[in-house]
Amino acid sequence: MDTSYTLLKGKWSTVMSEKYPRAIFWFSNDLRIHDNPALRQASVQAEQLICVFCLDSGWEKPQAYGVQRLGEHRRRFLYETLLELHTHLQAKGQSLLVLDGKPIEQLAELIITQRVDAVFRSHNVGVYEQLQWQRLQESFPQLAFHEYSTHTLFEQTQALSAEASLEQSFSQFRKRMSDQEAEDPIAPIKMLPPPVAPSSYLNLRLPTTPVMTLRLRGGESRGLRQARHYFSTSAPDRYRETRNHLDDVLASTRLSPWLANGSLSVRQLALMLDYYEQVHGANESTRWIYSELLWREYFQWYAQVHGKKLFRFSGIGDSAPLTTFYPQRFKSWCEGATPWPIVNACMNQLNKTGYMSNRGRQIVASALVNELELDWRCGAAYFEQQLIDYDVASNWANWQYIAGVGADPRGGRHFNLEKQAAEHDPEGEFIQRWGKGRVVEKVDSVDAVDWPLE
Ligand SMILES: Cc1cc2nc3c(=O)[nH]c(=O)nc-3n(C[C@H](O)[C@H](O)[C@H](O)COP(=O)(O)OP(=O)(O)OC[C@H]3O[C@@H](n4cnc5c(N)ncnc54)[C@H](O)[C@@H]3O)c2cc1C
Repeated sequence: MDTSYTLLKGKWSTVMSEKYPRAIFWFSNDLRIHDNPALRQASVQAEQLICVFCLDSGWEKPQAYGVQRLGEHRRRFLYETLLELHTHLQAKGQSLLVLDGKPIEQLAELIITQRVDAVFRSHNVGVYEQLQWQRLQESFPQLAFHEYSTHTLFEQTQALSAEASLEQSFSQFRKRMSDQEAEDPIAPIKMLPPPVAPSSYLNLRLPTTPVMTLRLRGGESRGLRQARHYFSTSAPDRYRETRNHLDDVLASTRLSPWLANGSLSVRQLALMLDYYEQVHGANESTRWIYSELLWREYFQWYAQVHGKKLFRFSGIGDSAPLTTFYPQRFKSWCEGATPWPIVNACMNQLNKTGYMSNRGRQIVASALVNELELDWRCGAAYFEQQLIDYDVASNWANWQYIAGVGADPRGGRHFNLEKQAAEHDPEGEFIQRWGKGRVVEKVDSVDAVDWPLE
């Protein structure tokens, strides 16, 4: 029978649907087999399927502020994820084609040369990713295009109000969503349609250099393992007290890297949390974890609603901050060579591992905006390069929040760095572990016209 899964009254149901002789499944922020409704839909509608991931050549080029979009840690994490995805696809009779170049050009060529009838993908809230989707549809009006939400707890119709608008503050959003049930994960996919020509399009170019200091490794099974491990401990019961720790592996879930590239489904995670609460009882800590998932959710829809404003200096408001771009100060911040040991230690942790705790991110972001008086966007761009859990919505919206140009009704965050160090690293262990860096006494070592200061 010709069947497919669709969202009916909030649940996935089986309905009749059209078959396509050849389709593309375009992986992006959904690098998994488990709970992937978009892939499931492609698997029931396509007779032959080409599974594709596009390595965007633009990620390698230096962007504004002299940073790349895809730094070394993030690239490794992504490649490890792709490698595992390829293995998982092979177990389902498929394989992964990794295209290298400009996504639209690469996909267009594939559509033409392989005579494709339909393209499936997961919805992506990133404005450029949406633009790519739109361009592809405009270039191939005769093709069928199907998109499904797999990166969020809720469907767009649940998360956004009737006018497709979003509450101005997170607390209003949380209040509205508190009685809504997140979508359940779907059943595992047993088999995928065969590939078009496996030997000719298998093209997985992964790095051959060994992984060095990276402690969190990419891949769907590692993400699921980390989630199972976290919920097999009593750590969730203490989350509220521990979540601000700078360096303790069980202080928070540490699941953001897998959630960010979609190798872990957020709906699967919510179900695991729910199960933990059923077995051990819900408390303030476990509810707080869910609240963090709602923050993530809020920022996803925030990115969707605000589009290009996510990257604008004045954010979603009209007035730009009184900060600017000082290359020397920015360099010092990136290198962990500021007058504040706590900032330097956090930046060293980021530079060495690609990860930093939420508290650490707030501290270094506040220092960049308030102490160094830098354009918040250069900090966001550096995080984009470095973070293994980089997510367009979570990153840029959190930076806007700290800079006071985003969803914060209180207008930005300014942390007292000494107080933060005393509160979150009272014995100085974190600073000792990651190094206080080259602590400089002055913010500037060169003046505005690049003369070294006395
Ligand atoms: C300046 C700045 C930039 C950030 N950039 C990113 C980013 O690029 N990607 C990213 O995933 N998170 C980002 N965050 C949010 C947060 O710091 C990380 O999600 C968190 O530290 C990840 O660790 P965890 O998985 O242990 O989180 P937990 O504390 O265990 O939280 C569980 C999950 O909830 C979500 N979450 C928690 N806090 C937030 C938040 N403030 N905003 C959005 N989602 C949240 C994450 O998916 C996280 O994995 C940023 C925060 C700041 C202040």
